[in-house]
Amino acid sequence: MNDLQGKVAVVTGASRGIGEASARALDSIGAQVVLTGRTVEDLERVAEELSNSPVIIPADLAQAGAGTELADRILNEVEGVDVLVNNAGIPMRRLPEKLTEAEIDLVFAINVRSLLTLSIALADSMKARGGGSIINVSSVASVRGPGARVAYAGTKGAVDAMTRALASDWGPDGIRVNSIAPGLIATAIWEESRNTIPGLIEEMEGQIALKRWGFGDDIADVVAFFASDASKYVTGETLVVDGGLARVSASASPQVLPELIE
Ligand code: NAD
Repeated sequence: MNDLQGKVAVVTGASRGIGEASARALDSIGAQVVLTGRTVEDLERVAEELSNSPVIIPADLAQAGAGTELADRILNEVEGVDVLVNNAGIPMRRLPEKLTEAEIDLVFAINVRSLLTLSIALADSMKARGGGSIINVSSVASVRGPGARVAYAGTKGAVDAMTRALASDWGPDGIRVNSIAPGLIATAIWEESRNTIPGLIEEMEGQIALKRWGFGDDIADVVAFFASDASKYVTGETLVVDGGLARVSASASPQVLPELIE
């Protein structure tokens, strides 16, 4: 059911974290994976462990025109694309009063503009192959209203809105477009805070119904689901993958309050 044999999957931000785990997951179910990211050595390290002739294409998605340029280079290397995982992204944790325009531009350029331009530039290839699956990596910041993250939350809200709009545009062409909103995933984004802020790991865990941080493979499993025919009738959806953080009450223990039945 999850067989991606003969399919080509592009993963942005494939050098580490959620992107690396997604590349591994897609390779393990048969896809040839195009790994893209900024650091060639890291992409090579990931590629070494993949089985289906992975392709490496380094690119910095912060620049204007980067998404379209990257698509051209991808289509020079492979015959076409069936799956696109728009995972590359940067965090931006800063109080609104301290945000500069340059910071706002940067986070929107990477998290929003390149995601859209790359998707548009690869869509014709997917159409020519009878359809495809685009998986955008959003965030619980899109649904939760996090503090000191207004610019980042704005980018991820845009990602979810664009997911629904593109699902409408390209549904008739057989292209499904969905997004995944991860919760707290222990990747490089969190490494310094997890290592230096006493009690942070436990405090955050307390807010999660499943009582643990997520790992890259928790998200990659859902990427594989959206990439495969297991989700063939799902499009325009945002799936929150957060162990029960954003929409589940994890703090109020039922034992604290007396039963009330009337
Ligand atoms: P990460 O920092 O480990 O990985 C980010 C990836 O994006 C890296 O491969 C990096 O090279 C790439 N990238 C960053 N800037 C780039 C640029 N200018 N050009 C090209 N590539 C660039 O972080 P991660 O946690 O694996 O994050 C992956 C995605 O998941 C991001 O979109 C992030 O917003 C989202 N996310 C992460 C979490 C979390 O808790 N880790 C939660 C919600 C959403």
